Amino acid sequence: GCGICVHKCPFNAITIVNLPEELEEGCVHRYGINGFVLYRLPVVKEGMVVGILGPNGTGKTTAVKILSGQLLPNLCGDNDSWDNVIKAFRGNELQNYFERLKNREIRPVVKPQYVDLIPKAVRGKVRDLLRKADESGRFDEVVKELELENVLDRDIRHLSGGELQRVAIAAALLRNVEFYFFDEPSSYLDIRQRLRIAKIIRKLAESGKNVLTVEHDLAILDYMSDIIHVVYGKPGAYGIFSQPKSTRNGINEFLRGYLRDENVRFRPYEINFSKKSERKSQEGDILVEYPSLVKDYGSFRLEAEGGELYVGEVVGIVGPNGIGKTTFVKMLAGVEKPTEGEIDWSLTVSYKPQYIKTDYDGTVYELLSKIDAGKLMSSFYKSELLNPLGIPELYDKNVNDLSGGELQRVAIVACLLRDADLYLLDEPSAHLDVEQRLAVSKAIRSLMAKNEKTALIVEHDVMMVDYLSDRLIVFEGEPGKFGKASRPMGMREGMNRFLASVGVTFRRDPETGRPRANKEGSVKDREQKERGEYYYT
Ligand code: ADP
Ligand code: ADP
Ligand code: MG
Repeated sequence: GCGICVHKCPFNAITIVNLPEELEEGCVHRYGINGFVLYRLPVVKEGMVVGILGPNGTGKTTAVKILSGQLLPNLCGDNDSWDNVIKAFRGNELQNYFERLKNREIRPVVKPQYVDLIPKAVRGKVRDLLRKADESGRFDEVVKELELENVLDRDIRHLSGGELQRVAIAAALLRNVEFYFFDEPSSYLDIRQRLRIAKIIRKLAESGKNVLTVEHDLAILDYMSDIIHVVYGKPGAYGIFSQPKSTRNGINEFLRGYLRDENVRFRPYEINFSKKSERKSQEGDILVEYPSLVKDYGSFRLEAEGGELYVGEVVGIVGPNGIGKTTFVKMLAGVEKPTEGEIDWSLTVSYKPQYIKTDYDGTVYELLSKIDAGKLMSSFYKSELLNPLGIPELYDKNVNDLSGGELQRVAIVACLLRDADLYLLDEPSAHLDVEQRLAVSKAIRSLMAKNEKTALIVEHDVMMVDYLSDRLIVFEGEPGKFGKASRPMGMREGMNRFLASVGVTFRRDPETGRPRANKEGSVKDREQKERGEYYYT
């Protein structure tokens, strides 16, 4: 094995060291002869949020389709009836669930993973769409909880990613059913919105519903789940649901790559989110000093303090949605012209936008080799960037056929392969699973340090911000109206300022060092707020 050092391992070579023997029995579904195989299913518990944690391509969505009755599992044979499924789960908690599902005593609703696709499937005003979904008579309450008042009269086609996500969650909440499934509810949301929907999902379970959720933002999964299942296996080949575990334990076992109760090591290395080499801020060469900038769109105004960027550092950019982060990054990238202040530097900039468009017709290899064919051959780039992000496996695919997560990884790599002094990445974690988030974070840190370059990263995943950043730029203000950007500041000061504005405190897990959100009003929460320690770095 390669110890705890993730980027030395081929990213997709997840090996099952000791596959449990009884697994053949747990075979639930196989897609075609050589297709993906799913083993076991998560439990569904009334009054609980059951979280699912695992890499992309290990059958999480397949399990959801089965539990929501959209897919009749073939039990890895030629099964063609729900009665056989009920039989196969005899003695299992799911037996009763499948019986009720078959008798339509349980009706499910699914918040789909890719909310971007919703405008292709439905048309009309948000208000009308949500009214139609409202079986529970909670329209006003749900609209208020999800802060959708301002978008009710808009056409669904004109919503941002974060707005679409909240509309999709609202539509699910408005149904009056027994089983709610949320597939990646945090995508496109800022940290405050993520915590808010986590609380709403918890409340739903507390009212006696079955809730199942897939989530890759570990701080949010941790905050929202009562129990979790780890899914492991070989992405695209097979996936196995672990037994249910306490949330904290399950996440820690997932990070360690070892399931204690099952005695299964499913990954030869640990995922370690604690920074090994912290770069001392204010040390070394200054790359550039940039001036104060203003961008005035009329309805929205951004004021950014000037600051300095150092060679070799990674600066995180945090703040709510609609506060001007993308606008700021676009000004530095030269895509938007400031209303006041001027970017007149001779720096070269490489920029990955938040929303990735693809009009490229060709393979991934063609796309990347046009940027820099030499780097694709270099052992340094292979080991630091391409292999950890699983790019060689995508070389022969057409760019237009990539999934959201695949496209994100290709866009990140395209950005990092370009020769530049300053790299700007807007929300690189969208659609990525936990391992991919870590791989991206590591690659960015290592390339900046070794190539002596500088990166600015807009990011909402607290664990990733914590791991990635040497310093932070904090955005505050009133979303949609005005934003103020701070100069780059130290992690401790920046995190405290940012989290104080969100009103949430984080502690550290003693075993893994990962940040955990304190429950509002808990002893730790109150103590930390009194001390002004929202975050331990
Ligand atoms: P996850 O939600 O964990 O990302 P999925 O359940 O979506 O995983 O997919 C697991 C695997 O099953 C993937 O390799 C996917 O390509 C494959 N798969 C999903 N749906 C089908 C299908 N209808 N036919 C064949 N293979 C499929
Ligand atoms: P963030 O990245 O923090 O979510 P953005 O920089 O994307 O925020 O947007 C900040 C505000 O500026 C939003 O209210 C957005 O609607 C507005 N805005 C962004 N681009 C334009 C534009 N070209 N014209 C007018 N308003 C814009
Ligand atoms: Mg943005």
